[in-house]
Amino acid sequence: LPLRRSQSTFNHFVASTKLQPSSTPPVQKPDAKPFRLAVKDNIATEEFPTQCASGVLGQHASPFEATIVRQLRARGASVVGKTNMDEFGMGSHSVNSIHGPVRNPLAPPGEDVSAGGSSGGSAVAVALDDANIALGTDTGGSVRLPAAYTGIVGYKPSYGMLSRFGVVPYANSLDTVGLLARDVESIRQLVFDTKLYEEHDPSDPTSLSAETRQRCSKAAPAALPDLSQLTIGVPVEYNIDELDPAIRDAWAATASALESQGARIVPVSLPSTREALCAYYILAPAEASSNLAKYDGVRYGIRGPEGDAAGETLYSEARGAGFGAEVKRRILLGTYSLSSEAMDNYFIQAQKIRRLIQQDFDRVFKLDNPLYEPRQFDLSEMSADTALEDKQGPVQVDFLLSPTAPTYPPKLSDIMKRSSIDAYMNDVLTVPASLAGLPAVSVPVKIDQSHQFPTGLQLIAQYWDDRRLLALADKVV
Ligand code: GLN
Repeated sequence: LPLRRSQSTFNHFVASTKLQPSSTPPVQKPDAKPFRLAVKDNIATEEFPTQCASGVLGQHASPFEATIVRQLRARGASVVGKTNMDEFGMGSHSVNSIHGPVRNPLAPPGEDVSAGGSSGGSAVAVALDDANIALGTDTGGSVRLPAAYTGIVGYKPSYGMLSRFGVVPYANSLDTVGLLARDVESIRQLVFDTKLYEEHDPSDPTSLSAETRQRCSKAAPAALPDLSQLTIGVPVEYNIDELDPAIRDAWAATASALESQGARIVPVSLPSTREALCAYYILAPAEASSNLAKYDGVRYGIRGPEGDAAGETLYSEARGAGFGAEVKRRILLGTYSLSSEAMDNYFIQAQKIRRLIQQDFDRVFKLDNPLYEPRQFDLSEMSADTALEDKQGPVQVDFLLSPTAPTYPPKLSDIMKRSSIDAYMNDVLTVPASLAGLPAVSVPVKIDQSHQFPTGLQLIAQYWDDRRLLALADKVV
């Protein structure tokens, strides 16, 4: 199938001409209200090709539709097109794409600036009002970061809430489907008023069962109380040296504004945050290297120019020609960290850090994580260390407030000059919530009117406290 690509100034759509209508139109919900939906190119649609901005899937059209697309069409969505992204979701600026980079529409004319990634095309489609809602995927920040850079709202739900069936996996234990919109309310309505959050998908093994959903929903308070009853934590480890001073100011000003409305603002410490980025960049490539093994020119993917009937070079040709440089780098990193000599030093250590990060969050949130059974009180486990920790016990908070990204969107020309490690740095504030599977949302705030770009601020909540998270986000915008 030839790629049907619409030329746009911002290069945010990769396909907007329909191949065919979906074979089984979903039964429309009685309360369905029509809206325009843009879909990231790693989410399967029948109407459009699904190519993950990769050469390796250059001829791929999915024979089925992702559950999330079917669910949203039942709620009134019509898909307006597939959006540009970093290949297989790997990147932070939507520049690692076979279609070329996405450009940020907030940049002054003549200046090419990052729209964030990897769901940059989805963010731009919403920012330009080509769509009311866009679907993205967020593995380590790919919905929140582009939302921050383009001045819109980006929501990453609790892991396991929205179905990933039909979403091309990057790192399964971290992948979530996220929503982008210009306001919080449209996301809140879609997820909660239309009861999307209740729907278990038997086709996705990580989709929470109906029973667990009920248990989690019982544990999470339904309504956001008055701000005077809320404690909001400001994680001190997120105040990194690399933070742009204007972003630090917007963060402080927003915290003060919430305080003046009655909320209690307290500094909290999440000590393992420092290790989060390193752990993420071991775990995500490890899972990716295994996921991408199937693009070998036989099961999936293009055949290389030589073909090769003997099969000696078939795989290497297909993979060598089909994947971009960043994807190859991740495959090599992941294959290495999973190899027998490196496993203990990298993969296992990163898993341990992931656990510590989850514990950090559980310690600071007032609500317990509903996924864990309550711990039995056991005197033999008590030591001087744990006693000390309990005595110095942290302040318990309802939500955490931080910036989404350490800087404003960089110029595309600067990104090309930098190393890929610089792009990894951008994820430093978004990966901790991903590693812990927690819900998080990026909202745009404009404090300093003279500044060219709005600042993206991130709110993080305890697992399954998504409803109150969005209600609070609505007060911050
Ligand atoms: N920038 C991160 C990465 O490249 C996050 C990507 C994502 O969330 N899909 O892994």
